[in-house]
Amino acid sequence: MMRTKLIASRGQKSNCDILPTMSKQLKIYTIEDKEEEKVLRKKSLPVKEELFKDPKFQEFLDDLLYTALHSEEQDNVPAGGIAAPQVGRNIRVFYALNYDTDKWQLFINPEITPIGFSKTSTVEGCLSVPNIEGEVLRYRKVKIKYQDKDGKWKTKKFKDINAIAVQHELDHLEGVLFIDKMEK
Ligand SMILES: [Zn+2]
Repeated sequence: MMRTKLIASRGQKSNCDILPTMSKQLKIYTIEDKEEEKVLRKKSLPVKEELFKDPKFQEFLDDLLYTALHSEEQDNVPAGGIAAPQVGRNIRVFYALNYDTDKWQLFINPEITPIGFSKTSTVEGCLSVPNIEGEVLRYRKVKIKYQDKDGKWKTKKFKDINAIAVQHELDHLEGVLFIDKMEK
């Protein structure tokens, strides 16, 4: 999650309207609990084709977003992104807030390729790493290939804060946290 609190909270409202009312909060895993950290440190597995048609999986996707939108109710910071391992499921799924459009976007089985070699350093934080913020160096422009909630493959290009957000979330799927890359 990035620290742009104002933008993150604006994004929350527009998305609450589209979520089914029965969506629920999932527990946000943090490194403060050793068992939870094990899950956060594990590489996540791809979402299989048959899972896209499973209503339970679609329900999980809604719950994951709902959890990001209500992170403050778990005494956490406003979220700018959330990955499945952060709620205890090691599958390749994450949401990231698009800071240009204020909309949350879902990425399943994402693959990221840098565009060019230009890097930029930004202060990051994370729902799973309470009370720590620090600068991380990441690619400034990236291309991301992913599946949407129906399993359809798409490609998008992002730059600056949106590029950083998806790189942060992809790391979660590899069991990597921003503190591992933080400039000391
Ligand atoms: Zn994070």
